[in-house]
Amino acid sequence: MFEKTTVDENYIRVPRDKLFNFVVEVFKRLDVPEEDAKIVADNLIMADMRGIESHGVQRLKRYVDGIEKGAVNVHPNIKVVKESPVFAVLDADEALGQVAGYRGMKLAIEKAKNTGVGIVGVRNSNHYGIAGYYAYMAVKEDLVGISMTTSRPLVAHTGAMEKFMGTSPIAVGAPVENDYPFLLDMATSVVPSGKVEVYRRKNKPVPGEWAISTETGEVIYDPNEILSPRGTILPLGGLREITGGHKGYGLSAVVDILAGILNGATWSRHVGGTSDKHSDVGHFFMAIDPGAFGDKEEFKKNMKKFVDELRNAKKHPKFKRIWVHGEKGFLTYETRLKLGVPIYRKVYEEMNEIAKRLGVPTL
Ligand code: NDP
Repeated sequence: MFEKTTVDENYIRVPRDKLFNFVVEVFKRLDVPEEDAKIVADNLIMADMRGIESHGVQRLKRYVDGIEKGAVNVHPNIKVVKESPVFAVLDADEALGQVAGYRGMKLAIEKAKNTGVGIVGVRNSNHYGIAGYYAYMAVKEDLVGISMTTSRPLVAHTGAMEKFMGTSPIAVGAPVENDYPFLLDMATSVVPSGKVEVYRRKNKPVPGEWAISTETGEVIYDPNEILSPRGTILPLGGLREITGGHKGYGLSAVVDILAGILNGATWSRHVGGTSDKHSDVGHFFMAIDPGAFGDKEEFKKNMKKFVDELRNAKKHPKFKRIWVHGEKGFLTYETRLKLGVPIYRKVYEEMNEIAKRLGVPTL
């Protein structure tokens, strides 16, 4: 087993399907069509199943609030604005981000199967959860998948001292012969805000140089302060150029360009959150058929050689093992399928409060 069978007393394990059905019911009660409710639930629960607590059901309340405030359109008319055999731009009509994202990547996959490459941009969307969900959709079809999204301003770019850019994630997935797929799924900031939220729930300081004060520019560790207007998260690479902070800043800008500006969506400081009306989040999806570039089986064989070479490199004494991106997530997924998903007790209670209020059976 990749995880211990017992969990810390602050967590409760819930079987995957029970959790999935619960989340579907909550969304259905909010008038989300069943098919869409299942997409959102699958995305949130995949996060928890892969060990990404920051983007799993701890975010349920935020989505519920967004729908109840009318900031999210649960009956969107998602339209193709522009299209060619290789690309399309979709207007998501303020849909739940997961629903728009699913439609976007599905279309990119279809195009890649026909032409070798499919690129789909989305505008007028909302928070779409984990970027890896969409890259993995392509991988399951034996394609390379790329997924990016803009997100609300929470990061000070190199030299700045205010919440300005998104934690905007990038995910890239690729199939591997007889092995877990490669699946890089990362925020372009040191951490996504959800990780700071995890520390806030636990009443603990964050464990690293993740953020600075917007008043003094000093590194701060109090999650309440970081998430308040007095704090801002740092780009991947941190505060200084010497550790490459400017490169995380650059990656976040790339997401703003490809997922935002290119699609006629908004960017960095203009992006709204889940509860804001017209958040205009933009997404970028790309699917590539390795079979169009060469021999697909050869690609997967070489991917296998590549990941094995990475794992078998000379190992640093401070590390027990060399990992490949996605591997821990897949192992966690398999373990949690057997043992259930650990839900932080406060989150569990919050979910049951939502259920009681909406008249849905509790967990
Ligand atoms: P992590 O830092 O947890 O992981 C980043 C990547 O590194 C993952 O692919 C992970 O794979 C891999 N990894 C972890 N440890 C190692 C290792 N030792 N060697 C090689 N690879 C490793 O991700 P983040 O905290 O940056 O992001 C978490 C989630 O937040 C992502 O799913 C992201 O999409 C989401 N997010 C969403 C936003 C939104 O607005 N929608 C905004 C920002 C982030 P593995 O899965 O196997 O652990």
